[in-house]
Amino acid sequence: MRKWKILNITVIVTLILLTGCNNSEKATQVKKIIVAEDKSSAVASVNTEPAETVIAPPVSQTVDKKPEEPVTSEPEVKKPVEPNTIKPEVKPKEVTPKVVVQAANKVIVIDPGHANKSNLTKEALAPGPDSSEMKIKDGGGAQGVVTKTPEYLVNMRVAMKLKTLLEASGFKVVMTKTDNSLSLGNIERANIGNNANANLVIRIHADSEPSGSATGASMLVPAAINANTKAIHDESKRCGTIILNTLTSEVGMKKRNVDEHSDMTGFNWSKVPVILVELGFLSNANEDKLLSSDDYQNKIAQGLLHGIIAAEK
Ligand SMILES: [Zn+2]
Repeated sequence: MRKWKILNITVIVTLILLTGCNNSEKATQVKKIIVAEDKSSAVASVNTEPAETVIAPPVSQTVDKKPEEPVTSEPEVKKPVEPNTIKPEVKPKEVTPKVVVQAANKVIVIDPGHANKSNLTKEALAPGPDSSEMKIKDGGGAQGVVTKTPEYLVNMRVAMKLKTLLEASGFKVVMTKTDNSLSLGNIERANIGNNANANLVIRIHADSEPSGSATGASMLVPAAINANTKAIHDESKRCGTIILNTLTSEVGMKKRNVDEHSDMTGFNWSKVPVILVELGFLSNANEDKLLSSDDYQNKIAQGLLHGIIAAEK
């Protein structure tokens, strides 16, 4: 019995000890949990503020917050849509291209006919073996039947207006002369075109005939009679045709012919395309008045400009 009592006592004691030990462990576990919750709650409270911007929310409380946070974060992400509205503003700035001027580097030589004095010196009609035939440099031009305006003045006024218009359109213009008192020979005039390597030489004149009834503009182009004119005939005729068509239709004057000439010194010495336009008849009373008018000269210059642009495009 004593042994049983002793055994019972020891069993009881050990049981008490064991249960006491468990309680203390439980106590420490409870403390750990409390600390852990405190930490997690502390973390959670810290995380709630940056949760709007940061993707990963805290563990326990995030379950409720998750659905809310993306909703608030998405509209913020959509804000960068604003840059899309900037793009159309940038495009118009880039769309402004350089103005293409096809006339760039094209050289037009303008040759106003005659001068305030004639030049009766003779020169060879054509180069080469046919140079024995001579022709006077400038017999003087026509004169307005009513206004008495000399041809060289009409020619120069239209020439200077055309120069201004051509240059404004991007052409390089070379004048054979700008001085009314300068009476050039036709070989000299042709050489100015040759030296300028002109895309086109346009010689400007006004017509005259005895009856006084003839009206309208005509175009003279070189006939293919020598090495020079054979090379330039086709291009000269092509340009002359286009320019006469444009001039007469725009100004509203009678269109006469495109005639090939072998008897003109200025053509025969030219190595570049060359045309001679007769603007109208100073021998006709009505056209004489028109040709002396500034408005009509402006119309003619415009018509020639548009014809040249059409021919040289
Ligand atoms: Zn003339």
